[in-house]
Amino acid sequence: MAEQESRSADIALSLEALQERISKAVLRSGRHPNEVTLIAVTKFFPLADLQILRRLGQQDFGESRDQEASVKIPELRAWARQEAQNLPNSNEPTRVHFVGQVQTKKARSVARYADVVHSLDRSKLVSALDTGVAHALESGQRTRPLEALIQVNLDPQAPPDRGGVPPDQIMPLAKEVADSANLRLTGLMAVAPRGAQGADARAAFDRLSALSAELTQVYPQARLISAGMSSDLEEAIQAGATHLRVGGAILGSRYLGR
Ligand SMILES: *Cc1c(COP(=O)(O)O)cnc(C)c1O
Repeated sequence: MAEQESRSADIALSLEALQERISKAVLRSGRHPNEVTLIAVTKFFPLADLQILRRLGQQDFGESRDQEASVKIPELRAWARQEAQNLPNSNEPTRVHFVGQVQTKKARSVARYADVVHSLDRSKLVSALDTGVAHALESGQRTRPLEALIQVNLDPQAPPDRGGVPPDQIMPLAKEVADSANLRLTGLMAVAPRGAQGADARAAFDRLSALSAELTQVYPQARLISAGMSSDLEEAIQAGATHLRVGGAILGSRYLGR
């Protein structure tokens, strides 16, 4: 119990420091705080940490491995329903963002619990998720369409397993998402090229922002920009990110000392 309390105090401090970092960057960019949503990326961390974050008012959670999320997320939601009267903003739903690569065979599972998928990067996945959402709607496991962001590869040097479409393939994929029955195209996502920091990260996110401007000319509803992690969120905010995906800066290292 004492251990749990100290974990809770640590997370509260990190979250507060992070929110401070975000507010400063938002102000410096002349943007409005409402324009930027923080997604707490909780992959590799236990349900107890998600519960601590939810008690602190965090509503948006990011996961990247289906094997883990398909267990943790339903548990989190069941707990949040039970605890509703003790939680801040209990009338607002917990939102789950799938930010990692989705294997086609996992699409059906992801479609049961994710509100948003940030990593759409191929046709096959559009149809697999669309079918998965249809099943989940039919069986009552979800009530809404799935929001989808197209992941863009900003690094021509990146190995193919990092995910993302080259910029010239955004439009054809966007059309497939927009034409699907159960997916809603809501924006673009990217990760800065490996090793890119400071001005290099900023240049990559500016590129993403320009691609987003092209996309919204055709699909005005697709205005979300998911960019920025623990190490480059200031650059992402300056470039217009609407959704930050932050893990380490809130929960600490995933591999050491836990
Ligand atoms: C893990 C992960 C993050 C969070 O990264 P941190 O460096 O821990 O903030 C963001 N986006 C994606 C796609 C991730 O897999």
